[in-house]
Amino acid sequence: MNSILSDRVLQMEESATLAMAKKARELKAQGIDIISLSLGEPDFKTPKHIQQAAKDAIDEGKYFAYPPVSGYQDLREAIAKKLREENNIQEAKAEHIVVSVGAKHSIANTFMCILNEGDEVIIFSPYWVSYAEIIKLCGGVPVLIEGTLENNFKASAAQLEAAMTSKTKAVIYSSPCNPTGSVFSQQELEAIANVVKKHEGVVVIADEIYELINFTGKNFSIASLPGMFERTITVNGFSKGYAMTGWRVGYICAPLEVSKAVEKMQGQFTSGNTGIAQRAALAGIAGDQGPSQEMAVQYLKRRDLMLGLLRDIPGIKTHVPEGAFYFFPDVTAFFGKSAHGHQVSNADDLCMYLLAIANVSLVTGSAFGADNCVRISYAASEADLIEAMKRMKKALGELA
Ligand code: PMP
Ligand code: GLU
Repeated sequence: MNSILSDRVLQMEESATLAMAKKARELKAQGIDIISLSLGEPDFKTPKHIQQAAKDAIDEGKYFAYPPVSGYQDLREAIAKKLREENNIQEAKAEHIVVSVGAKHSIANTFMCILNEGDEVIIFSPYWVSYAEIIKLCGGVPVLIEGTLENNFKASAAQLEAAMTSKTKAVIYSSPCNPTGSVFSQQELEAIANVVKKHEGVVVIADEIYELINFTGKNFSIASLPGMFERTITVNGFSKGYAMTGWRVGYICAPLEVSKAVEKMQGQFTSGNTGIAQRAALAGIAGDQGPSQEMAVQYLKRRDLMLGLLRDIPGIKTHVPEGAFYFFPDVTAFFGKSAHGHQVSNADDLCMYLLAIANVSLVTGSAFGADNCVRISYAASEADLIEAMKRMKKALGELA
């Protein structure tokens, strides 16, 4: 019998990050002591003043009705102000902002609004797992330009230029990057912008969701460069920097034509984001930034801890991530080896081996466009990181 499902969903891959997290959760529920380093999710609690704002919003009783589709005006104004003051995106106004149900939703909205069938989207690879699937769902064709460990996983402007065709519609990257933790410098973004500006009608989707977890100093936004505001959709959200993954608040800042289209799209799919979550987000963006800064300090400490632990594991090759909370080491040294009845031929096999033997869950690099690597999230306690690396070292050492 033919499936009742659409080709659209049948052709779609499941999110590998969420699938691995689900598997780890199931094993934990069976009583197995899994250390989960698979999901890119802060282990910190949402700061207290943000929690309080949500409680106050409930008590005030003013936010139970349908919110405006693109978000409350004061939240959009606060976001625009932040983008002007912190990111130097001088053109940003409330009318350019659309608040959505997480940055994932913002990205989906954006591609729904800009892609026609067959349009190409150039993705800086390694890339976050959902980009390619969302692009394909919207009729687009993902085109990967690949960074390698040797150049800190950063594909160059020259590679971008070489990948441009008459069908190119958009370019997407995350910086700081999920899965590599790499950060584009101002100079690198200027070079990218110069290529994009040569190609009429091509836009950049700049995913800056990890901007508050950046160990290089300050985040640089490509939309702040001359001539780039009209060509950039800046994506950001509250999940990472404010430890608010479950609140589901993200946003775009886009040229008016795009922000209006996204509002129309969202008006047909979801309507505006949850009122209470928006009030919490406002407290996040307009309130005390101390807790976010403190989290970033802790992530840096863990980055350094992990660097030492990983360098102590023979066969693991890693660069030094400059932001986000991931390592993305090359693990090819273990391919072609076996132990405990497991044959390891690729990064998928290695992740399964480590899950079964070390009880540590990671995500295979193949989900991010690099099948010689694995992604390790270090958004976990120092004790868990130390124990996980000890187990990994032992299990990897047994492969022969
Ligand atoms: N972009 C990147 C690079 C991410 O890692 C994530 C993580 N979920 C998202 C977007 C989406 O974030 P959210 O939907 O939780 O706002
Ligand atoms: N972005 C996080 C990750 O990459 C959360 C999971 C997801 O949304 O895919 O693990």
